[in-house]
Parts: sequence; C-alpha cells; structure tokens
Amino acid sequence: MRRKEKRLLQFAGLLIAALLFLPNVGLWSLYRDRVFDNSPDTMDRPGGIPPIQLNQMRKVAQVGLDGVRRTDWHDYEAMRRDAARFGNGEQGKPFPLTETDQVDQAYRENGFNIYVSDRISLNRSLPDIRHENCKQKLYAEKLPNTSIIIPFHNEGWSSLLRTVHSVLNRSPPQLIAEVILVDDFSDKEHLKVPLEEYMKRMPKVHILRTKKREGLIRTRLLGAAAAKGEVITFLDSHCEANVNWLPPLLDRIAQNRKTIVCPMIDVIDHDNFGYDTQAGDAMRGAFDWEMYYKRIPIPPELQRDDPSQPFESPVMAGGLFAVDRKWFWELGGYDTGLEIWGGEQYEISFKVWMCGGRMEDIPCSRVGHIYRKYVPYKVPGGISLAKNLKRVAEVWMDEYAEYVYQRRPEYRHLSARNMAERRRS
Ligand code: UDP
Ligand code: MN
Repeated sequence: MRRKEKRLLQFAGLLIAALLFLPNVGLWSLYRDRVFDNSPDTMDRPGGIPPIQLNQMRKVAQVGLDGVRRTDWHDYEAMRRDAARFGNGEQGKPFPLTETDQVDQAYRENGFNIYVSDRISLNRSLPDIRHENCKQKLYAEKLPNTSIIIPFHNEGWSSLLRTVHSVLNRSPPQLIAEVILVDDFSDKEHLKVPLEEYMKRMPKVHILRTKKREGLIRTRLLGAAAAKGEVITFLDSHCEANVNWLPPLLDRIAQNRKTIVCPMIDVIDHDNFGYDTQAGDAMRGAFDWEMYYKRIPIPPELQRDDPSQPFESPVMAGGLFAVDRKWFWELGGYDTGLEIWGGEQYEISFKVWMCGGRMEDIPCSRVGHIYRKYVPYKVPGGISLAKNLKRVAEVWMDEYAEYVYQRRPEYRHLSARNMAERRRS
C-alpha cells in the first residue's frame, strides 16, 4: 500500500515537472507564446542547438560593378533556433488530425480549421524550401524600410497573431518601419480590447479600424494612407513569412522603384496547416476572358536558366506584394469604387504595366497563405465581385472588355454607376 502511494507520488511529481518544463507541451511553452520577443528561446531539441553548417556561414559583403555594396541578410542565429524547434506543426509539418478535430464548427468562422491553428505555436518554424541558389544571394546593404499592412475582417486570433509573429521573427528589425493591422469592422470580441492589450508589447504594431465595413480594397488603402515606411508591403491576415523573405523584395524596389514585387505564395493547408509549395513549378499569374485568375506555366522561351531569378508577371494574385509607397500613390492607389473583394489585383497590375512600371515574382521570397475551404464572411449587397470585374474591364481593357461580355453576358446589364469617372487621361 505504502509503496503504491510512493509510486503514485513519484508519478505525479514527474507529471507536474513535465507539464511545467517540457518544451512545446509544457506550460512554459504557453508562456513563451504569450511573451513575445526575439531572444533565444527555450524550444531547443534535447541535445542542443544544431551546430552551424558550412552552407550556413555568413557570406562576406561585396561591392558590385554598379558600386552597390551587398551583404548577406540571413539571420543564421534565428535559422538555427527555428531548425531546433519540434512539436505540433513545427517545421511546417501537418498537424495530426483526429476526426473530432474536423467537425464543421472548426471551419465555420474562418473557412479553415481554427482548432488546429490554436494548437500550433505562434512562433512555429517553417521548412526552408527556397531554391538552393537563394541561400547564397547577397542583397544591397542599404535597403528601404517598409510598413507592413495587414487588413483583416473577423480573422481568427491565432492565425492573425501568427502572421504578425512570423513577420517580426523573420525580418531584419531595421527594415520594418511598422506593422499596421487594419480592422475592417470586425465584430469578434477577441479583435477588440484583447488585441489591443496583446499588441502593447509590440511597439511597432499599430491598429487602425474602419468606421464601417469597407471591404479589403478600401481597408488596405486606409493602412497605406497611414503608412510611413518607404515601401508598403501588403499581407493577408493569415500568412506566415518564411526565412529571409523581405530583403529579396526590397532589393528589387531599391533597384527600380517602379517595380511591384510579389513573394512566391506557399500553401498552408486549411485542414492540417502543413506548409508546402503551390502545385506546379515555374508558374505565373494570368486570367481568362471570364476574368478568372489562374496560374499558367511560364513559356519556355521566358524561363530563366537560374530559377531563383525574379521573373516578370502579368497579373498578381492580389493579397501579398510590396510597392514603393510614393509610386503606389502615383499609380492612384486602388480604385476606391471596388467593393469588398476581388478585381483589385487586375486593376493594380494593369496600371503598373501601363504606367511605365513592372511587376515581378521573386522566387527567393516565400510567404505561406491559408487558402480557405470556403468564404466565411458575408458580402454585403451580394454581387460585388461581378461589379468589380465589370468596372475593371470597362475602365482598363478598352475594346477587350467585349471579350469579357461575350463570356459573361450578364455583366452588360450590371449597374455602371460611378464607372466612368475613374478613366485616366
Ligand atoms: N478582408 C477585409 N475585408 C473584407 C474581406 C476581407 O479586410 O471585407 C481581408 C481579409 O481578412 C484578408 C484579406 O482581406 O486579410 C483578403 O481576404 P481573403 O483572405 O478573404 O481573400 P482570399 O485570400 O480568400 O482571396
Ligand atoms: Mn487570404
């Protein structure tokens, strides 16, 4: 009897110790997730931080023929800390789902599995799936700083916070002027006082709020109007920035301020949060005459010998890009007549190409995005997408709008109110 009690006590003691100190499962990990900082953390694999590898040595800065001094922007210390993390969802691995995890309720509010998101660290590590050549690249020592603008409407707590954490964890601090979270009239309680309280510990993060539901286009514009950085970088509110994502973007803008740059958008699975590339390599943005966005293979004659090189892109996907702040406003920002969601990616793409700029996809910059299972939010007024697409086609596509009408005859009869005044001379 006594021995049994002793055993029981020993077992309970061990359990408490494990609960307190085991990385990733222990209470300590909860605490760590709440108290955000960039200092070395406690999530190391037993056996310590992996030794530095030869290909992870800082490369020496070089002065190019153009006189620009280039440096290695990798944060090897942070990379090693990330490599040492383990646990649910770490290294971008799929979360082991049970059937009870996949109930409808888990998807209802966000269109992705928020139960899973809530059980993965806000500082989780991601696999470095960049092309090998990216690991050797140097970028200008003097880069413009950027405001990061993240619009959100009723975003989940952990998915929004993981976006912010990933940006702050994986960007050189001197390149982040600020992070502006723009709330598009959310009604979820967690996005009010709790969000403000949480962000008090992150002095670079500011929260703005729209006064009514504006839709993502005018919400992004509100953030852009407040931005102070030399560059503005837009992200969705459910993203994860991957290793060294920012310098390759800013470097292209530093070389030509009229270049709009997009990272490669990786897929965060809406069920299990596994992190992976999009299907198909060497693809870029396009659209058909129904104005559906699609990715199509880069024609062989335009493919580069080195797939890590930036390549031109006709139209962007929409949510994730960086642009020189003044150039964005010279382009007229977005058309404020576009409602709620969609079409704005064509508008900004057409304008940059027609106004003497260019748009590029940057293979060495990777950001994950949760592609939803379904759209969880209401679209006031119902048919805003069709109106937006008609408006963009009429304003920017001249006689080609006729091809759209042939495929989408119902667009002809949509109200054309407010359409004409945006036409630029
Ligand atoms: N969003 C917004 N207002 C809206 C709809 C969306 O601020 O009325 C935000 C949303 O939270 C996200 C971004 O705009 O950060 C893009 O929307 P979403 O992710 O739904 O688009 P998708 O990625 O599915 O195309
Ligand atoms: Mn999105």
